[in-house]
Amino acid sequence: MKVPFVDLHAQYLTIKQEIDGAIAEVIAESAYIRGRHVDAFEQAWARTLGVKRCVSCANEMDAIYIALRGLRVKTGDEVITSAHSWISTSEAITQAGGRVVFCDTDEETFTIDPNDIQRKITPATVGIIPVHLYGQPADMDAIMAIAKRHNLWIVEDCAQAHLARYKGRYVGTFGDAATFSFYPSKNLGAYGDAGCVVTNDDRLAEWMTTFARHGGKGDHVMEGINSRMDGLQAAILNAKLPYLPAWTEARRDVAACYDELLEDVGDVITPKIAPDRDHVYHLYVIRTENRDTLREYLTEAGVSTVLNYLKALPFYPAYAHLGHVPGHFPVASFNQSRVLSLPMYPEMTKEMITYIVERIGSFFQEPDSIAVKVIQFAECR
Ligand SMILES: *Cc1c(COP(=O)(O)O)cnc(C)c1O
Repeated sequence: MKVPFVDLHAQYLTIKQEIDGAIAEVIAESAYIRGRHVDAFEQAWARTLGVKRCVSCANEMDAIYIALRGLRVKTGDEVITSAHSWISTSEAITQAGGRVVFCDTDEETFTIDPNDIQRKITPATVGIIPVHLYGQPADMDAIMAIAKRHNLWIVEDCAQAHLARYKGRYVGTFGDAATFSFYPSKNLGAYGDAGCVVTNDDRLAEWMTTFARHGGKGDHVMEGINSRMDGLQAAILNAKLPYLPAWTEARRDVAACYDELLEDVGDVITPKIAPDRDHVYHLYVIRTENRDTLREYLTEAGVSTVLNYLKALPFYPAYAHLGHVPGHFPVASFNQSRVLSLPMYPEMTKEMITYIVERIGSFFQEPDSIAVKVIQFAECR
């Protein structure tokens, strides 16, 4: 059996008619740049989350940049973000003129550690970008309390966390602004690049809209950038949006199967969810001391896995100038050599999940215990 890491084509086949129809409409209308499909998606996404404004743009890295410019980040301003994440967040801070200040992650949730945020605040700190990594919300109460105490803004990086909730409230509704990616493999994915910033602040939304569209149409009130979501992507997202809740539930089902079947197998640590958080499992990330050999074993068995992320950001050459050593980020350093992302997508079958956990069981030479659990858990999907 072969199990891909994600299977976008399998999802397309389940909604082929809607997608083909949406694409045909855009072409019939030549609504390639902006237009009604983009407006409709901005409104639908804002309504889904319960925020006032959604400003669409070309991708999420642009979204973070646009938000940081809107929040008036100046040269030398320090912006705090997570040490173990995708690089876009820190890249956007630098691009906006800010200085990246990395914080260690929390042992259980892989999200930014509020205690480390507290330690990293200086008079130059202007804001915090928590990342709801893998689909689990960061500790927003603690982060918002720190932000309030020190008069900092918050931009939530929600790239991996569409419809994730903290104390029942969607992520993306806590910060001064929040950014989403609709990269094809994200929980809500376009068929190309797309992203957005959401906010409840009308003035910020207006500024960001103007900035992202060449500083204004007709009247260029400032120099901006060109960052647009195109009509095809918006029409595809409109077609997919109604399915997002069901896809999210399907991801949770897959995760529940993995959780149950991988419990006490070898030294595998399955993902933990902190209280009051609804995880949306963009990624299902286990930890094991045997990560590299297990990964090889699974590859040979036809199971694709990914390392999210191979190194914590401070340890890439891009940030060598910051002079960080593993002791500065003990949790991220510990996790970087242990994390392994297993296949995770809504269309995964029970056979696929069973196959993967059986392979992991035989890697740890515990095939019998897995077999028993698979039988007991036959109803898991
Ligand atoms: C995917 C991702 C981004 C960037 O999104 P793009 O739309 O590809 O620019 C940023 N942050 C995180 C955590 C991501 O996973």
